[in-house]
Amino acid sequence: MIKTKAYAAFDAKSPFKPHTIDRREPGASDVAIDISYCGICHSDLHTARGEWGGTVFPCVPGHEIVGKVSKVGPSVTKFKVGDTVGVGCFVGSCGECARCKQGLENYCEKGFVGTYNSKDSYGQTTYGGYSKAIVVPDRFVLRVDPKQKLEGVAPLLCAGITTWSPLKHWKVGKGSKVGVLGLGGLGHMAVKLASALGAEVTLISTSASKKKDGERLGAHDFIATADIGKAGPRFDVIIDTVSARHDVSAMLSALKFEGTAVMLGASPEPLPLGPFPLIMGRRSLAGSLVGGIPETQEMLDFCAAKNITADVETVGVTKIDEAYERMLKGDVRYRFSIDLATL
Ligand code: NAP
Ligand code: ZN
Repeated sequence: MIKTKAYAAFDAKSPFKPHTIDRREPGASDVAIDISYCGICHSDLHTARGEWGGTVFPCVPGHEIVGKVSKVGPSVTKFKVGDTVGVGCFVGSCGECARCKQGLENYCEKGFVGTYNSKDSYGQTTYGGYSKAIVVPDRFVLRVDPKQKLEGVAPLLCAGITTWSPLKHWKVGKGSKVGVLGLGGLGHMAVKLASALGAEVTLISTSASKKKDGERLGAHDFIATADIGKAGPRFDVIIDTVSARHDVSAMLSALKFEGTAVMLGASPEPLPLGPFPLIMGRRSLAGSLVGGIPETQEMLDFCAAKNITADVETVGVTKIDEAYERMLKGDVRYRFSIDLATL
């Protein structure tokens, strides 16, 4: 085992504290990575604060990881020491079911192994990227362009792929009208990616102060979240990134005939939903969970070609609790990225 420095939540209420975790020695197909940056996703907060239930403490969150390969197992051919790589939300899956064979490991029929707060195939609890290093099977390691701004690439590994996957699945492109509900980590990537794919994007936000930023990120229009019920049918697709309870029926009423709203936000509380906006106009409410490994690589390559990264505020490890509080207030433009050199 390799003793590795990390930052952990020891219970749902206390501040993060320094911690030492054990990482396994890299096996035949493993890649050991020295972590440079790790984004702070709202899912980290939901988990560290026990909001979804099932958190195993101490918990080391972080699934938006970018770093450099420090060692590879003898069977690894795709990566070598010194390569710049990324790791996203999962680090294992059965590899044999229909979903895994399709490259949709995120929907593995046996359940994927999460990058943190999961049990891996060795029976060990997984620990995420709020740490100096990680050891990951090569199947779950992504190639990253070292010329990009790495603190801004880290959030692509969750916020980027989680928004890219539904945009591609629901065939967003030139001529599509897309609404993005909530301008946080996921939302700002949805705006950037949908507009880069050629869609006409409207930002729907509770914060009037984000209107200008929406334009800068690629949005063509702005609607206040409180007014969405009055906006009338206008979107082919809505990407819903809201992390808390909100009015889903009002959002659905803004879809065109047969439009689809995709739920990405994972509110710990059930959401109120009246049936009529779905029935009228044969609309759909769907959900989507991050994305598979091949589509994650496709998204990273697309972002490298178009020079797209997340807008980040880089923080040191001692600022994680403060970052969580500011994320809750919407006081970050638009993702915190932890600099692991501070650990
Ligand atoms: P975030 O940065 O905190 O952004 C959430 C945004 O939602 C806020 O910036 C705010 O935008 C809006 N919002 C928050 N509370 C609201 C409320 N009560 N009513 C209306 N709007 C509200 O969070 P994130 O990291 O983007 O994550 C968003 C959600 O997606 C979280 O629940 C996270 O767990 C989940 N998630 C899901 C997946 C998946 O695979 N499906 C992957 C990653 C994350 P405005 O200020 O613009 O209104
Ligand atoms: Zn995430």
